[in-house]
Amino acid sequence: MNGAEELLVGAHTSTAGGVHKALLRGQEIGATTIQIFTSNQKQWSGRPLSSEEIDKWKEALERTGIQKVMSHDSYLINLGSNKEENLFKSRKAFKEEIERCLSLDLAYLNFHPGATTGDTEENCLNRIVESLLETQPLLEKASLRLLIEATAGQGSNVGYKFEHLAYIIDRVQNQIPIGVCIDTCHIFAGGYDIRDAASWNTTLDAFEKIVGLNYLYALHVNDSMHPLGSRKDRHASLGKGEIGAECFRVLMTHPKLQALPKYLETPIETIWKDEIRMLRDFASKNQNCSSCR
Ligand SMILES: [Zn+2]
Ligand SMILES: [Zn+2]
Repeated sequence: MNGAEELLVGAHTSTAGGVHKALLRGQEIGATTIQIFTSNQKQWSGRPLSSEEIDKWKEALERTGIQKVMSHDSYLINLGSNKEENLFKSRKAFKEEIERCLSLDLAYLNFHPGATTGDTEENCLNRIVESLLETQPLLEKASLRLLIEATAGQGSNVGYKFEHLAYIIDRVQNQIPIGVCIDTCHIFAGGYDIRDAASWNTTLDAFEKIVGLNYLYALHVNDSMHPLGSRKDRHASLGKGEIGAECFRVLMTHPKLQALPKYLETPIETIWKDEIRMLRDFASKNQNCSSCR
């Protein structure tokens, strides 16, 4: 294996037929890392995993050598909800999600911060902080890290400005293991240009200043159907959207980004294998990104 083969690149693979199947599907497409849903992402009640499922998972994990598995939380969860019942259900579902992540010994739980649904962003952010602090007892001895997903700012979602991420992190970092997952489609739609090395440098400088690069743990790798600053969340296959392939060449060679795990959530699953190969090729053919800093 050369260096590019070892880089942590993968996709959000399906758990249909059993959670361990996601690892096997990952291996089939050349993934060295994967993201999963630990339960149906469109339902409130997720059940705990059985010991049989967990055993199969651990066996497949060892067999495939897949690393840094990340969970994506349910789309229904809004940790910043201003509706009492919804907030209660969200917090409960989030804690159950953490329990499942712990039973599978996952590295990361990626979550959408929340949506204002009519309230102010500050109130929403404060409720997200409270929701996160409630998880502290579950995470005390765990190796799981919660990653706030940078959003496109679609609808009333918060998390599209680096300041929102910093606001949350500042208030929870001493209590729980926290970090950020940057989605390339989302930050681009949120107004941060990343189409070439120069714009990536500017965006990373802003992230460093506002949040701190030490909080950046992972990336969702998606092109965008909609233009810069559009605040719309529609993923495109790599090089087929408004961002373009050069972004992803820089992503794979940038000294501040290369070693981070990367997960595809692009719309055409049948070409994930090719997209992973393309990303690895970028890394093996462009070892020095002279314009990256
Ligand atoms: Zn997401
Ligand atoms: Zn998205």
